[in-house]
Amino acid sequence: MWVRKLLDINCLDLAYAVGNCFAPRSPAALAARLERLWAPNKTIACLSVRSGFDLWLSALALPRGSEVLVSAITIPDMVRIIEDHGLVPVPVDLDADHLAMDIDSLRRAVTPRTRAILFAHLFGTRQPLDEVADFAQQRGLLLAEDCAQAFVGREFTGHPEAEVSMFSFGPIKTATALGGGLLRVRDPQTLASMKAKMAAQPRQGRWAYCRRLLKYTGMKLLSTRPIYSLIFRTWQALGRDPDRLVNGAVRGFAGPDFFRRIRKQPSGPLLALVHRRVAKFDPARIARRTRLGEHLLAHSGGSFMSPGFASDVHSYWVFPVLADDSARLIAALREAGFDGSSAHSMCVVQPPADRPAQRATTAEQILPRIVFLPLYNQLYESELERMAEVLEALAKRGEATGGRRSGGTRASGSGDRKSEVGSVV
Ligand SMILES: *Cc1c(COP(=O)(O)O)cnc(C)c1O
Repeated sequence: MWVRKLLDINCLDLAYAVGNCFAPRSPAALAARLERLWAPNKTIACLSVRSGFDLWLSALALPRGSEVLVSAITIPDMVRIIEDHGLVPVPVDLDADHLAMDIDSLRRAVTPRTRAILFAHLFGTRQPLDEVADFAQQRGLLLAEDCAQAFVGREFTGHPEAEVSMFSFGPIKTATALGGGLLRVRDPQTLASMKAKMAAQPRQGRWAYCRRLLKYTGMKLLSTRPIYSLIFRTWQALGRDPDRLVNGAVRGFAGPDFFRRIRKQPSGPLLALVHRRVAKFDPARIARRTRLGEHLLAHSGGSFMSPGFASDVHSYWVFPVLADDSARLIAALREAGFDGSSAHSMCVVQPPADRPAQRATTAEQILPRIVFLPLYNQLYESELERMAEVLEALAKRGEATGGRRSGGTRASGSGDRKSEVGSVV
């Protein structure tokens, strides 16, 4: 069984971070070094994107009842943070081909109470945002950019016009440090205010972080192909849902006290590991993942639509396809040894009760139908082709949706290259 997602971290990285727990260095110095590496004088290194976004809203102190326009698909916590600041999230719909903001929906969403726009780049796509940035500038709105799913290394630290650009190093993200967020903030006063507010928060304990490192080291071992297959099949044989097992294990800041948990400074070892991940990041890994994504798109495009396929920039952090009967597709994939999964960690932002017309209908149509196919550098092209065959067989029986329009026009040059990577983890 090919696991749905591999933790993007190796044992040396994990050992380095554990070592840092035993030989602590000054967190302030580590933070300064990391912030210099990312975008000098513009960066704040946080415990997570959610922590940083919370600080940004605190620093802005927008009047209660102000509206924040939010691209319609994101993680529920981002919406929760907006609401906690007394602000009103208003969804802006997406176009399914690119996963860009629908400009008509954006125009309709604005009212005199609108103060900011939050856009999330989804699934590894990256939108140009120029039009949205112009729109924001003309109306005096602040543009926040959620790049948690769009990390490609230091070559992209955010759109030049964005007030804040946020990158996550959470467990399931590219180049994970099992936590951590880097925010590039345009306005120096806002940045200073965020730093002052963070300095007043308690610091994540290094032993708490160490426990986290050990927990994920264990999970990494369990996600090797034979062991994962064994656990998965056993769980199924016991008549239980393997989905719940996996999702329960990777939930960040799970449980009550959400705000107490995110309102912390990052520990020294976390800052050291984020620095290592960013400084040593090899863009060739993104290039390979992109090639694999394009290869899969070229082979599956005729049968299943992949939201975001037409995006000019796409690094395939994940590979989504739309299925009318997602349970059936997931079952067929499992049968063939691929652990596909639904998008249950994300949500469609709901409009305020008095503005039903602002419902994001496209987002509502696509999100529940999304199935993520396993895609990471450890997979081989031949396995991707086998996965594409599963899709094609189902499509022939009429399971596909979204038309046959994701054809591999953007996918070229993926060739028949065989994988040079042999191992699964
Ligand atoms: C993962 C994710 C976040 C949260 O990142 P953390 O660093 O875990 O807080 C926010 N937005 C999107 C779109 C994400 O995928």
